[in-house]
Amino acid sequence: MIYTNAHIFDTERLICRPFLPSDAEDMLRNWVADPDVQNEYGEPVYTDISQVNALLEEYTKGTKSKYRWAVIEKSSGENIGQIAFCRMWKECQTAEVEYCIGSRFQGRGYAGEVLAGLIRYAFAHTDVEKLEAYHRAENTRSGRVLAKSAMHITDTVQRFAREGIAPEDEVCYCIAKNEYYKMRKELSLMGELHIIDHPLVQHKISLLRDKNTGTKEFRELVSEIAMFICYEATRDLPLKEIELETPIAVAKTKVISGKKLAIVPILRAGLGMVDGVTSLVPAAKIGHIGIFRDPDSKGAVQYYSKMPEDISEREVIIVDPMLATGNSATAAITEIKKLGVSNIKFMCIIASPEGVKAVTTAHPDVDVYTGVIDEGLNEDKYIVPGVGDAGDRIFGTK
Ligand code: URA
Repeated sequence: MIYTNAHIFDTERLICRPFLPSDAEDMLRNWVADPDVQNEYGEPVYTDISQVNALLEEYTKGTKSKYRWAVIEKSSGENIGQIAFCRMWKECQTAEVEYCIGSRFQGRGYAGEVLAGLIRYAFAHTDVEKLEAYHRAENTRSGRVLAKSAMHITDTVQRFAREGIAPEDEVCYCIAKNEYYKMRKELSLMGELHIIDHPLVQHKISLLRDKNTGTKEFRELVSEIAMFICYEATRDLPLKEIELETPIAVAKTKVISGKKLAIVPILRAGLGMVDGVTSLVPAAKIGHIGIFRDPDSKGAVQYYSKMPEDISEREVIIVDPMLATGNSATAAITEIKKLGVSNIKFMCIIASPEGVKAVTTAHPDVDVYTGVIDEGLNEDKYIVPGVGDAGDRIFGTK
């Protein structure tokens, strides 16, 4: 069984990944045979391994396979439940969430943890704009989980609204993507930080640091490292299945779907990363933002901005090799958000701890990708040990 990392998320104690045929025994032991668990979310009770195998066929290959995750307890490696989008309404980008955790594993906060993980994953990595869930009023356990989650009570959800039914015995919950990010910002939750510790990236960063590395080699290295980091930053691009003919047979195969990309280098050093990124995503449009560091205040001053016309419909990756104070990155993200962009990533090669903190605090919805985090900043706000002035080294201006 092959599955891509694009469809995996984890929380402190749990890994959520697509189901595998080898999950059958854990499922039978931990939850599918348990009437208390299965009845709670309206699923049949399965007592026989052949029934579980048939269910797993559906979960791994059938119509129930997409957006369904096996919940694995990290400490034991056991499959202890599941979480899924049980219904989706593409036209309003809304998904209904259902989940279950085996009785033996209840009372430890796993249901809340997995729900929080899915909400975060869904808004960051899928096209879903709204999540919904409901519980029957007498099901107080589910009620407590939903009440503690980021979701809030609502009058109805798509499932009932579309059938013209008023929920009576059900308590409905929902959360929209913008509400979620507003809440995260209010709570000052940190954006996700990705350090690309691949040996090739680390090796190339060492070559960059060497003061004897000349302009040509420095420029090539920046571009190559940008390509590697972009490979990780695009890991979660949504895919859709298409059918095409190979010389041998008809293949069901995957292509990138959803929003298109725009790359926005912060002038001027960010320009050095553009070739590397576009070698992976040649169809991406390129915007430019000019921000300089006021030599006295060290604050960010914007002097130029030219973006693709349809920028608000694109996912944007802002690139700048050095994340130092974080002032330019924060200002660039603010500017791009003002243009209506909701999905932004920031990519650099070397970051300072101060820069990471500044960006993820000001913009908790933005994931930061870097090759390394250095010790800190010197009094001139250069990264230590860093590479010196990346712009000068890329363009040979000093
Ligand atoms: N910009 C650079 O080019 N280098 C640093 O160390 C900090 C900001």
